[in-house]
Amino acid sequence: MTRWYPSQGTKYGGTHPPRTTINRIGEHSSAMRRQEQRIHDKQILANYVQLQPGVLVIWDRQPYRVVEVAERPVDLWGEKHEERFATALEHWEIGGKRGDRPEKETWGGRPMVFVLAADGKPHEKPLHLIGPANHAWDVLPEHYWICSACGDLPPCRHQEAERIADRQAAHADVLMDIPPGHCLACGEVITRRQQATRFPGPNLWRPDFGENSAVFHARLECSTPRERYRELWEAQACGGMKQQSSLFPDDNPAA
Ligand SMILES: [Zn+2]
Ligand SMILES: [Zn+2]
Repeated sequence: MTRWYPSQGTKYGGTHPPRTTINRIGEHSSAMRRQEQRIHDKQILANYVQLQPGVLVIWDRQPYRVVEVAERPVDLWGEKHEERFATALEHWEIGGKRGDRPEKETWGGRPMVFVLAADGKPHEKPLHLIGPANHAWDVLPEHYWICSACGDLPPCRHQEAERIADRQAAHADVLMDIPPGHCLACGEVITRRQQATRFPGPNLWRPDFGENSAVFHARLECSTPRERYRELWEAQACGGMKQQSSLFPDDNPAA
């Protein structure tokens, strides 16, 4: 079971040899659920590729072929990795010494050397990276997608930037559709019976609404945008005069 599905972008890569079982704490009480778990585990195990020369991996959105994976000799770790190991040892001691005491030679975070060559670019010098042995790599199939515009693997930088811009544009559109007096978080009417929070001064999100028009439901559901507005409003208030009168419940809601 090592096939790739046509729509499958990557598999999970690591430095350890493929495992044959997954260590689980506890078991299902039902025999059939235990059997289903075993089947599921087989699928998880089949999704793993051990990094060795020739395997394609992603580094910095680019495809690289593994040239070499090697242990860094213990006497050449250097200060940074010695410190990381000391921290791991400390955590093991604080954490009740569960499992075996970490040893440098087998510790999951021990530094390893990864030599990678840019795929299809034989003139480029191979990259020499140092990383923890248990770093989770993304492994590519031999036939992989690449953005013809920028050469990145998907999702490319442009696609991500466009997606963020589209989300912001949709958000701005919806904000501009909110009628005056409605909650700037959910866009819905604030009824007489509902508590509201009104922010004095110019409306920072809808300047077209004029003074003292920024109002939100006081309810939890509308709190995330409300607190975002509060932060902006406080920053503006601090920029000019000192923060004005604190917030007050809205006694005369528009509805
Ligand atoms: Zn692109
Ligand atoms: Zn609301």
